[in-house]
Amino acid sequence: MIEFINVNKTYTNEIKALKQINLKIEQGEFVAVIGLSGAGKSTLIRCINRMHEITSGQLIVGGMDVSKLRGKEVRRFRRRIGMIFQSFNLVTRTTVLKNVLVSFVPDLSFIRKLTGVYIKEHKIKALTALDQVGILDKAFVRVDQLSGGQQQRVALARTLSQNPEIILADEPIASLDPVTSKIVMDDFKRINKEMNISVIMNIHHVEIALQYADRIIGVREGAIVFDDQTAKVTDDI
Ligand code: ADP
Ligand code: ADP
Repeated sequence: MIEFINVNKTYTNEIKALKQINLKIEQGEFVAVIGLSGAGKSTLIRCINRMHEITSGQLIVGGMDVSKLRGKEVRRFRRRIGMIFQSFNLVTRTTVLKNVLVSFVPDLSFIRKLTGVYIKEHKIKALTALDQVGILDKAFVRVDQLSGGQQQRVALARTLSQNPEIILADEPIASLDPVTSKIVMDDFKRINKEMNISVIMNIHHVEIALQYADRIIGVREGAIVFDDQTAKVTDDI
């Protein structure tokens, strides 16, 4: 499903953020990427949906050679991959539902010419996604009225409404307290298991990674230094 073959990523400032990465991730896996700040975790995740372009090697995602995608193909490709950030990236002064509906904006100008039936379809998808993360009751509440954990669930619902095959999560609980973190991690786990959506999560809480992920990948100075099934790691400890 995702395959890195001798992937390197060098930023324009000549920092080698990824060095000869070889990695295979199957559909439905829950992978935690751990490592110190600056190790290359975020770069690794962001190459998968081409937020960052790799410098050399080959990256195959969902049967596509990511570096070879052009124009429209990039947009279509990105819609198959959800992305969750530490900072939620929501429009806080409007409602939860509108924030989820934002994910359909690329289609809206086309839809405006039509009868509105598609808008209804989008609304149903958006409300279904809110239900999947347990915040349907907040649909018409403004985002700035919600707690951090609830806001991250709105971001998760926005992503889910696109029916992604993969969700990339870049430090999704870094700004949440432990109780809220657990609720959000439970959501990720449920989505992963019930919907068979792959989750690749960059996280610095090792104990949470061990508790939730199927597999742990350790990154240091741009290289993979560790890659094993969580159950095995836990047994070793
Ligand atoms: P992590 O997510 O593990 O903290 P990053 O992938 O963000 O690591 O960073 C890996 C290395 O690449 C670091 O040395 C960082 O300073 C550098 N880096 C990250 N993003 C950029 C960028 N946009 N331009 C230049 N260097 C960057
Ligand atoms: P706008 O009226 O600017 O489109 P709203 O925030 O009022 O934005 O609503 C976004 C969508 O959700 C609209 O299509 C609206 O019909 C629907 N909506 C808003 N509030 C409710 C509500 N309380 N019950 C059901 N649907 C609502």
